[in-house]
Amino acid sequence: MKPVLALVGRPNVGKSTLFNRLTQSRDAIVADFAGLTRDRHYGNGHLGRREFIVIDTGGFEPTAESGIYKEMAKQTRQAVAESDVVIFVVDARGGISAQDHDIANYLRKLGKPTLLIANKAEGMQQGLQLVEFFELGLGEVLPVSAAHGQGVRSMVEEALDKLGIPEPDEDADDEDKSVIRLAVAGRPNVGKSTLINAWLGEERLVAFDMPGTTRDAISVPFERNGQKFELIDTAGLRRKGKVFEAIEKFSVVKTLQAIEKAHVVLLLLDAEQGVTDQDAHIAGFILESGRSVVLAINKWDAVDAYQRQTVERSVEQRLAFLKFAQMHLISAKKRQGLGPLWKSIAQAHAAANRKMPTPVLTRLLQEAVAFQQPQRSGMYRPKMRYAHQGGMNPPVIVIHGNSLEHVNDSYKRFLEGRFRKAFDLVGTPLRIEFKTSD
Ligand code: GDP
Ligand code: GDP
Repeated sequence: MKPVLALVGRPNVGKSTLFNRLTQSRDAIVADFAGLTRDRHYGNGHLGRREFIVIDTGGFEPTAESGIYKEMAKQTRQAVAESDVVIFVVDARGGISAQDHDIANYLRKLGKPTLLIANKAEGMQQGLQLVEFFELGLGEVLPVSAAHGQGVRSMVEEALDKLGIPEPDEDADDEDKSVIRLAVAGRPNVGKSTLINAWLGEERLVAFDMPGTTRDAISVPFERNGQKFELIDTAGLRRKGKVFEAIEKFSVVKTLQAIEKAHVVLLLLDAEQGVTDQDAHIAGFILESGRSVVLAINKWDAVDAYQRQTVERSVEQRLAFLKFAQMHLISAKKRQGLGPLWKSIAQAHAAANRKMPTPVLTRLLQEAVAFQQPQRSGMYRPKMRYAHQGGMNPPVIVIHGNSLEHVNDSYKRFLEGRFRKAFDLVGTPLRIEFKTSD
């Protein structure tokens, strides 16, 4: 499981600036996806090969008793509870406020691994000004500058070291490659447990033992028509004997961790509700994580023709960035439309692991250019020379040439479409990177 770092602090200390810096490298990759929800508070970050999830908690007033601040305090407490390390951000220039004391008291009582950092410390005479923060009783304060990137690396290092998480081992890849790890994700009440129970009640589905699966975690290895699957710890569910039931408190963090762990995510939507903000956020995170996706709109039995049209339109608009995913209309309760899900899941998994040989990629690239040249931009005419595969799961295609920074978005989409079609890349994100040699 990826460790979770929560950024906590009063408003304006620089939490979102820090969040953006920590999640930046991934953002650059997904920036191209039209319609991807950007107002997230959850993101992926990494330090070398060590990966983590960051939560930006907004403004925190632990003593707030009403209104929006009370609600924010509640959400912050949940984020803190679910995190592995709390990064408590104070303002190196503004000094300590009463709010900082409140937050510090709260964190001290909690007793979670906590890192105290003083942001906006660029160009400051260190030591002197920071002594006052000892008063918060959280030990040494680490100076950083989120805006300039100073100290951020050692901050993350220290946070991860607190957890004693070792650098991942390059060769520690002993998983069974024939097993597809599947997560069913979705908001509370979309029908996750109903669907999983419908599946597990099927006769075609054979449970098997898999070494290394813990008994208490929700992880069900099974085989269906010769393909092995592992249903991984799906957020918001509890196993009760042979069936699953929804637990009351939905956990975004668990959902994100499940997505990270999966090969394929089945994103469940509720036909009665359409696409909500929370659906769009989960979808955005799946894309950002590079996981394969299958979409299923559940409760199809409960909506009339007009509602059906509305839902389909809202998926097209709000989840436009998942256009590459197969969509299914199902009723978990009536067990309708469930069979075809399996084919899409296997297809999405195969696509994510597709091998794309350099000669074939290069030929496709040349054919695409012959069909339609990239547009000139000012005095630059992008010139594409060859392409190779830069990674799998999700597939990455690296295109080499000159002036490629001038390739416009519509041309990128044109190329993506051609590559997707040629390699049958259904259900997986595809990343196209440009390497310019001038
Ligand atoms: P949040 O409310 O805690 O999320 O704070 P923001 O990230 O929105 O930042 C609040 C203000 O502080 C913005 O004007 C930022 O530009 C500024 N800020 C953030 N980090 C730094 C920093 O490292 N140095 C300086 N000088 N300003 C910063
Ligand atoms: P979870 O929180 O995502 O696990 O959702 P549940 O599986 O607990 O389902 C929430 C509610 O939706 C329950 O009352 C289910 O009976 C109902 N539900 C689930 N699937 C369907 C469906 O296909 N059609 C209809 N009409 N109701 C459904």
